[in-house]
Amino acid sequence: KPGLYLVGTPIGNLEDITLRALRVLKSADVILSEDTRHSGKLLRHYNISTPLLSYHKFNESQREQRVLRRLKEGEIVVLISDAGTPGISDPGAELAKLCVDENIPVIPIPGPCAVVAALSASGLDTDEFTFVGFLSKHGPSRRERLTASANEARTQIFYVPPHKFSQFLEESSLLFGDSRRCVMAREMTKIHEEMRVPNQFWRGTLGEAKVRFLNQQPKGEMTLLIEGRTNCLVETPSEDQLEHELGELISR
Ligand code: SAM
Repeated sequence: KPGLYLVGTPIGNLEDITLRALRVLKSADVILSEDTRHSGKLLRHYNISTPLLSYHKFNESQREQRVLRRLKEGEIVVLISDAGTPGISDPGAELAKLCVDENIPVIPIPGPCAVVAALSASGLDTDEFTFVGFLSKHGPSRRERLTASANEARTQIFYVPPHKFSQFLEESSLLFGDSRRCVMAREMTKIHEEMRVPNQFWRGTLGEAKVRFLNQQPKGEMTLLIEGRTNCLVETPSEDQLEHELGELISR
């Protein structure tokens, strides 16, 4: 059936792909991919020779009309990202919206998603959660977002690039408090030479995380979860106090 298929792909382990995803990838007219070299590896692994077209945040808007035309002509178009579910901190949402507006079917082929994988194994409350994704690069906006998170009763989930890890720990421990429990899900599903026994989840408080990791930064892809507020509202420092406490960090 023609339409836009949003296909979930592995977040590390190439075996994490559904039978339906493989069938749709094989039968599609074109696969839109964030990084055609990266996706090429996955497709070769499964002997899929469907043509690839690059589709990433820098050419998204210029490709849209061309893709819409192909969809209107009745083609099967698949969108994949480098890892996980398209549209989740990855390109896809804009194209899905355009298709919805044009009455073109948008079909999800569910698969891996780092936020869901991390939450399900975290040991934290899964009934309600807030997916924050990547935080802003702009200090005051970032801290405002963290302050709001610190006061939510739901589990808070962040995507943290390795080079932002220590900044994240410093700021979140100030705003959530050192005693708040957190879980670090690192390199999930990947099997490393040095990690014969998968050691992908670290659990402790934000204070313990600082002691453990500030001088020995973990590498790789990280999803961080912080437990929701369990008691009264958290007293968070003002932006002025924060700038004072974080002074050195901010100027870096
Ligand atoms: N679309 C993807 C999804 O569905 O999860 C997310 C893409 S986003 C650009 C990449 C971020 O997801 C990483 O910086 C990291 O925070 C998280 N992530 C991706 N793979 C991961 C993994 N194997 N283990 C832990 N976190 C991961």
